[in-house]
Amino acid sequence: MSEILTVLQATRLSEEYLRKKGISEPRANAELLLAGILNCKRLDIYLQFDRPLNEKEKALYREYLSRRAAGEPLQYILGETDFFGLKFKIDSSVLIPRPETELLVEEIIKDNAGKKELRIFEIGSGSGNIAIALRKNLSDAEVLSIDISAAAVRIARENARLHSVSEYVRFEKADIFDDSFVENLHNFDIVVSNPPYVSAKEFDQLQKEIREFEPKEAVTDFGDGLSFYKRILELADKIMKSDGQIYFEIGHGQAEYVSALLTEKGFEKIEVKNDFNGIARIVKGEWR
Ligand code: GLN
Repeated sequence: MSEILTVLQATRLSEEYLRKKGISEPRANAELLLAGILNCKRLDIYLQFDRPLNEKEKALYREYLSRRAAGEPLQYILGETDFFGLKFKIDSSVLIPRPETELLVEEIIKDNAGKKELRIFEIGSGSGNIAIALRKNLSDAEVLSIDISAAAVRIARENARLHSVSEYVRFEKADIFDDSFVENLHNFDIVVSNPPYVSAKEFDQLQKEIREFEPKEAVTDFGDGLSFYKRILELADKIMKSDGQIYFEIGHGQAEYVSALLTEKGFEKIEVKNDFNGIARIVKGEWR
């Protein structure tokens, strides 16, 4: 394609292309991809709608469009996403941070604002979104966040550097099911996790974008979807301070089971919070 193509023409053609490929919100997708290439905000592409794209931009736009048409999530193509008002670098080795997860962060900040010397432990760093957003908003907190994936740990550390919190947020490659690692964990005020909670059975019913593009081990526990909650709660006695708080994001239909588990372990003040779709999404409790 060597003919002149303006920003406006390119987005119109691309919108049409994505629509034909069955991508929902084709216009937003077309505009956001081009904004990524032109390094500007979505709305700002219309400030330059007459500007011709150069060959390099056209080639890159074609590549992005065909990846999107094949189902790859927009956020992976652009290599970044917003979470809690912060930009995070991401790639296909980490889960795409979700808006629901912002509720988890919000809840923790609300409950703990102003507290001194908070020690936070997170299981499942992913891009580092939760750990970094917490530290950005709880200025006297130190966070240890672990992930089983070395690639995730690399990205999370990079995000910590970008947000200047590397000194206070430590990301480590570790497995919560590894007893010898867990042995050294003590005295946390806050334990938080948005673990892989989709069961092996439900995994096959997920939409293609998730199933084929997001890291499987970040989405499912390859079991009943509850194994991380059970494991973490088993450890509470050892790793939590008394009066410490636990915060979980949970999957659809898991609220009853997870809160019963907290009760059984001796947690108090157990609460379940809904997300904006009215789905129970967060369970929290206080260690005795
Ligand atoms: N902490 C990350 C998030 O909440 C990753 C969670 C995960 O990989 N299961 O998005």
